[in-house]
Amino acid sequence: MRRAKIVATLGPSLDDRDTLRAALEAGIDVVRLNFSHGTHDDHVRRLEMVRELAVELGRNIGSLADLQGPKIRLGTLPPEGLELVTGSEVFLQPGAEELASYESGGQVALPVVYEALADDVDEGALILVADGSIRLLVTRVADGGVWARVIAGGQASSKKGVNLPGVEVSAASLTEKDVEDLGAAVDMGVDWLALSFVRKPEDPETARRLVGELDGDTPIVSKLERPEAVERLGELVEASDAVMVARGDLGVEIGPERVPAIQKEIIYRANAAAKPVITATEMLESMITSPRATRAEASDVANAIFDGTDAVMLSGETAAGRYPVEAVRTMAQIIEVAESSPHLVHPRPEWRGPNTETKVARVVAEAAVQVASDVGARAIVVYSISGASIQVVSTFRPPSPLLGLTPVESTRARTALMWGAEAALVPLKEQQADLFATAERVLLDGKWVQHGDKVVIVSGRPGGAGSTNRIMVHRIGDPVQV
Ligand code: PEP
Repeated sequence: MRRAKIVATLGPSLDDRDTLRAALEAGIDVVRLNFSHGTHDDHVRRLEMVRELAVELGRNIGSLADLQGPKIRLGTLPPEGLELVTGSEVFLQPGAEELASYESGGQVALPVVYEALADDVDEGALILVADGSIRLLVTRVADGGVWARVIAGGQASSKKGVNLPGVEVSAASLTEKDVEDLGAAVDMGVDWLALSFVRKPEDPETARRLVGELDGDTPIVSKLERPEAVERLGELVEASDAVMVARGDLGVEIGPERVPAIQKEIIYRANAAAKPVITATEMLESMITSPRATRAEASDVANAIFDGTDAVMLSGETAAGRYPVEAVRTMAQIIEVAESSPHLVHPRPEWRGPNTETKVARVVAEAAVQVASDVGARAIVVYSISGASIQVVSTFRPPSPLLGLTPVESTRARTALMWGAEAALVPLKEQQADLFATAERVLLDGKWVQHGDKVVIVSGRPGGAGSTNRIMVHRIGDPVQV
């Protein structure tokens, strides 16, 4: 039984229904809609297909919309691209999608789709193009744009990403496009909303407010990829519902050598705050073109599991790669083997927050996991309206299966991202005895347990959200005493 979850990005490689079905069967738990690419119609069509297949397969599949954020990129270049020669000078034209001429003062000119480029950078700033494969050093801000020397050359092509490490980028964290995309994502009823390039706790808070204005309650995933976000990690984890170690841009912004230690720190903090954490990018990169993963990639996925991540993510591997189904299958196998290793040790993070309802839920969750293990329970069942108590029990990494029961469809779908959690939709319970009867039925129908097995049931005031306070040990088939 695999416990860590797999997030897979949709795209042309999974547009064929049979391929998508095979990839879902191979182990996708959450699909990611990448709003940096494709139209709203593409996302709607893909999500509908996933939802239909999830019903056919009897699987609980979640969805995550990933907003582009203030990503700076090159505009459109000639089809063959432009050669940037090391040692030469280039001119960067801010706020331009394309140029009438790709030459200025005898040098290559590049359109950059970001109005404030010349305001934000000074002489000496580093500009990285195409994931840092091309490096430019700003020599002067003049002529309505930015002149820079090419210190590592290469072939620049249309729409490549541009990063400004160490520069305080003035663009709003949620761009106009993001606000539109957020509206579309809420309309589509996605289960999680990811924000790119968050810098401060106000960023997820603003997104949550916008979602609320649309009468939504989609939880917010902060993608941690900017140095400012790493500096304010604790506050950002608290302000978010989940976080992502977005290693692609993080590596460009702070240098790949710092990524592994920061990954560990982010995962540790997310575990301690009982928030799901996704580790993302280049996990099985070579599988975009090869049917087999490299040893280094297998180690990378396994090490994210050893670090304690809730989920690992596939990007180009499933969106545009040649082997999307194999990539999901490979990832699932690596996780399963890592999870059976004696080297997998789950830390028990200390609660550092105030003595509130959250603390009560944590204490109950931790005790429930201990009780389940001490009495040899076959499963832990958590009845939850909001899903928060399922997440908290998941944080304590129970060795026995964890089944969330909820009357709320969106809660059921959100558990797809939580480590080790399965979920079933049940009627709203007003009486504790009804809850036991429902739990028994779901557990027996799903062949989780047999008559005589012990289970641990975690619940609160029936029907109430945020009231988790009970642990009961129940033997399947015994009369219920409440
Ligand atoms: C990343 O940068 O690692 C990431 C997940 O973001 P995106 O794929 O949107 O660039």
